[in-house]
Amino acid sequence: MNILLIGSGGREHALAWKIAASPLTDRLWCAPGNAGIAQEAEIAALDVENHAAVIAFCRENKVDFVVVGPEAPMVAGLVDDLEAAGIRAFGPSRQAARLEGSKGFTKDLCRDNGIPTAAYERFSAAEPAKAYVRAQGAPIVVKADGLAAGKGVVVAETVAEAEAAIDMIFGGSFGAAGAEVVVEEFLTGEEVSFFALCDGENAIPLASAQDHKRVFDGDKGPNTGGMGAYSPAPVMTEALARSAMDDFVLPTLRAMKAMGSPFKGVLFAGMMATDSGLKLIEYNVRFGDPECQVLMLRLKSDLVPALMAARDGQLKSFDLRWSDDVALTVVMASNGYPGSYEKGSVIEGLDEAAAVEGVEIFHAGTAARDGAIVATGGRVLNVCATAPTVAEARHRAYAAVDRIRWPGGFCRRDIAWRALARDEA
Ligand code: AMP
Repeated sequence: MNILLIGSGGREHALAWKIAASPLTDRLWCAPGNAGIAQEAEIAALDVENHAAVIAFCRENKVDFVVVGPEAPMVAGLVDDLEAAGIRAFGPSRQAARLEGSKGFTKDLCRDNGIPTAAYERFSAAEPAKAYVRAQGAPIVVKADGLAAGKGVVVAETVAEAEAAIDMIFGGSFGAAGAEVVVEEFLTGEEVSFFALCDGENAIPLASAQDHKRVFDGDKGPNTGGMGAYSPAPVMTEALARSAMDDFVLPTLRAMKAMGSPFKGVLFAGMMATDSGLKLIEYNVRFGDPECQVLMLRLKSDLVPALMAARDGQLKSFDLRWSDDVALTVVMASNGYPGSYEKGSVIEGLDEAAAVEGVEIFHAGTAARDGAIVATGGRVLNVCATAPTVAEARHRAYAAVDRIRWPGGFCRRDIAWRALARDEA
């Protein structure tokens, strides 16, 4: 098969690595890609927002299957347009991608289908939202309805902070994504993630994985796209996984199908394990990044038939095999991230780092310039390792990190500390 992968992050490098390893893959392209992905796939110079250009590329190159990595092209309807042109594509339709593209849509779906989630109200103007905040009191959570690159959520400690967040969102800094606001109850507990591959009707669970959202050691500092991840996640017990499937994923698939927009793709449930059980924080409609990187390292089965079966509605008796090893990834980010950072600093030592046993390096934001690898993003590298234990995987990953010479970057030093503490206990 000829396959086109859409995206440019560490998630897509991991997907490219796994797709390239499939015996089913003849040619693999990626658009827009990065310097690491270029080792696995041919880079296609395509404007991904131009769906007609993507379709023309697929026709010209006899592409059999398109795999969409990030949420933005899904929400923009790329999968719909490809399918309408007769090109098979993995990922949700525009209507199904509302599970991530509109927080209000998902909250209403939860309410209508008995799916546990924080109490909430939706607002399209600031004054009633503020009145609701004053009536509820703090802490309280304020969210922009649409996609805001992870910046649209404010966990407010005080009523004044919540009111400021409401003004900020309605003030227009998120464009159309801020036309509506969801205000919801603050949940306490440990955050857990659950991933399922879905074909519109059936779902199969993927291995568990957990990321670290905060920028600094000890889970301190501002939220980021994710500074590291590990799999399996001991917090996801069998009982929680069963609840995630039966009380969240399957009722969501039934509801989406009933409203005429069946969900196909990866459904990623971000949940809070509260004293009264799991509650949904949010859905994402794609693989997590950096969770995907550790999942791909543990996936023993061929990924391509699994993605095809999801697209074809054939997951019912499908099975995936996973390695018993632990996989862990340390994200190396540009100094200053998640605030402003410089681009273009040179990274050295990648080959020496990749030579450490069990290590795989996925690129998240790099480019090749004059024979050197340079940083082009906030999150730049995923230094990953597999090993039989958390401690050994972590040791390998940091041994590789220490071989990378990049004064322009930093990483957390405590990835998987919770899993390690559990192991040691
Ligand atoms: P989201 O983009 O909806 O996942 O929110 C980003 C982060 O904000 C989550 O990972 C949580 O840490 C936090 N958060 C969101 N909603 C709530 C809530 N209702 N209660 C407590 N924390 C929340």
